[in-house]
Amino acid sequence: MGVRIGKVEIGGPEFIVIAGPCAVESERQLLETAEAVALAGARILRGGAFKPRTSPYAFQGLGLEGLRLLAKARRATGLPFVTEVMTDTQVHIIAEYADMLQVGSRSMGNWALLEAVALSGRPVLLKRGMSATVEELAEVADALRSGGNAQVVLCERGIRTFGTATRNTCDIAAVPLLQNLTGLPVILDPSHATGRRDLISPVSRAGVAIGADGLIIEVHPNPERALSDGDQSLTFDQFRDLVDDIEPFVKIRAGRRFEVYAGA
Ligand code: PEP
Ligand code: MN
Repeated sequence: MGVRIGKVEIGGPEFIVIAGPCAVESERQLLETAEAVALAGARILRGGAFKPRTSPYAFQGLGLEGLRLLAKARRATGLPFVTEVMTDTQVHIIAEYADMLQVGSRSMGNWALLEAVALSGRPVLLKRGMSATVEELAEVADALRSGGNAQVVLCERGIRTFGTATRNTCDIAAVPLLQNLTGLPVILDPSHATGRRDLISPVSRAGVAIGADGLIIEVHPNPERALSDGDQSLTFDQFRDLVDDIEPFVKIRAGRRFEVYAGA
C-alpha cells in the first residue's frame, strides 16, 4: 500500500515525479514553475517556504507568504504540494496548508519535530540525514509510525563522504535497501544528492531502474538567479527533457516492486 497525497499515491503502481523550486521566491517564480512542471508530467509540487540554510545570511524563505503562494499554485495547477517544516512549533500552521510535510536532512534527528509531525495527520517526506545510516533512517521511520503516523515516504538525498566532485554522494543502493527494510515507499533526490545540473538525468535514470517509487527534482525559471540551489536546479526545458529521458525506464518498471532476496 502506498502513501496518498491528495489524489496522488506514492508507492502505488504509478512512478511519481515531485518537482518545483528549492525555495518559493515570488508569486511569478512559483506559478510559472508549477505550471511548467505540471505540464511536463510532475504529480506533486515542491517548494520551501521555511528554508534551513547553512549560513544565517542566506535567504531564509518567505515563510507564511510562501505557504500562501504554494496554496495558490495548487489551485492553479491541481498539484498537491510538499514543503519543509523545521521546528515543532511550525507544524501546526504548515499542516493547515501543505498536503505533505518534509522533514529535511538536517532535521532527521529532531525528536520534538518528529513527534509533532507524527501527530499532525499529514503524510511525511522523511529525508535521510546527511550522515545517517540506512538503519538509523529506518528507525526514525519506525518512530513516526509508532508515534501514530504511518503515512511515511523515505528519501535518499545523498550522504557526506570524502568525495568532493559532487555535493553529496548518492547512495543508490539505499533505495531498495530501505524499501526492503521498512516496506515504505522510497524516492530519490538527485538534485541534493549530486548538487550538479548535468548529473540529474543520469542519476534519475539509475533511480528509476533501481526501483525507486519516485523522484524529487529542483526546477527554476532561471537557475542562474535562484536564491538557493541554483547549480542543481533544472530549467523548464531541461525538466521536460528529464521526463523524456526517464520515460523508457518508467515503462520497464511499470508498477513493479523488485524483490530483494531475504537474507542475501
Ligand atoms: C530541500 O529539499 O531543499 C532541502 C533543503 O533538502 P535536504 O534536507 O535534503 O538538504
Ligand atoms: Mn534545495
